[in-house]
Amino acid sequence: AGRDTVFQVHIANSPLGVVLSFKDKTADEDIGQLRRDFVANVSHELRTPLTALTGFIETLRGAAKSDPVAQDRFLSIMEREAGRMTRLVDDLLSLSRVEAEGRVRPSDKVDLSAVVSATIANLEPVLGQSNVQIHVDDQSDGALVQGDQNQLRQVVSNLIENAVKYGHVDGNIFIFITTPSHEVALRAEGLRLIVRDDGPGIAPHHLARLTERFYRVDSHRSREIGGTGLGLAIVKHIVNRHRGRLQIDSVEGEGTIFTIVLPTFFEKQMPVT
Ligand code: ADP
Repeated sequence: AGRDTVFQVHIANSPLGVVLSFKDKTADEDIGQLRRDFVANVSHELRTPLTALTGFIETLRGAAKSDPVAQDRFLSIMEREAGRMTRLVDDLLSLSRVEAEGRVRPSDKVDLSAVVSATIANLEPVLGQSNVQIHVDDQSDGALVQGDQNQLRQVVSNLIENAVKYGHVDGNIFIFITTPSHEVALRAEGLRLIVRDDGPGIAPHHLARLTERFYRVDSHRSREIGGTGLGLAIVKHIVNRHRGRLQIDSVEGEGTIFTIVLPTFFEKQMPVT
């Protein structure tokens, strides 16, 4: 009971005609496969910086032993690789924490506008080095989200960081927070957070897969700028835990829009009809 059964249909041509055979493939088997894929991916992601670190240690002991300039350069690369591993482990822990909390619905009253302002303030060191402009249009009108403050902070920061990382160096990021509609039917939709960039955008065939763990549009570019490939998977899990909704729209050459709808406390005050 409670197990979904997936039927795989094999169609083979035989001299007697078409033979259909049904193989019962349970959801448990699929989960086993997903887990194996995940472990293989994590191992691969950890192996890449480890291989680099091992290589540079060897070089520092050998060829670069008496070359301080080379040593300095290699140590910087090693620092970057170690940072990459730290981010990966941090993101893996975040993901496993959100999963462990499962379907328990968080109940803090969260001021999304304050979360957005705090995130932008935290990003100041990164933004200070770029020409990216962030524009905030807050129309939340004091509405609060029912959620987990720390996790919503992570959602907002992953989305804004992505807009900075993948947008143009001198691009614009627009953040809108809009209140639930006054229409009762739409009010249940909740508070809407939109993060829009005017970067290069994402080709349509990638959109559905962006929230998969380790899925990247351009692996080389993501790694180059320190991505782990887990940011949007974490966002999706957190939004799901909040019974929210995530939508990604993008037009190549124009930019990308991430829309999140989160339940507000308004819902609770709605009359039962
Ligand atoms: P990463 O750690 O690689 O940034 P994410 O899960 O946060 O991982 O994002 C997955 C991929 O989605 C990224 O590698 C990037 O290719 C793409 N992506 C995310 N946000 C944007 C954006 N605002 N514009 C263009 N591409 C994006």
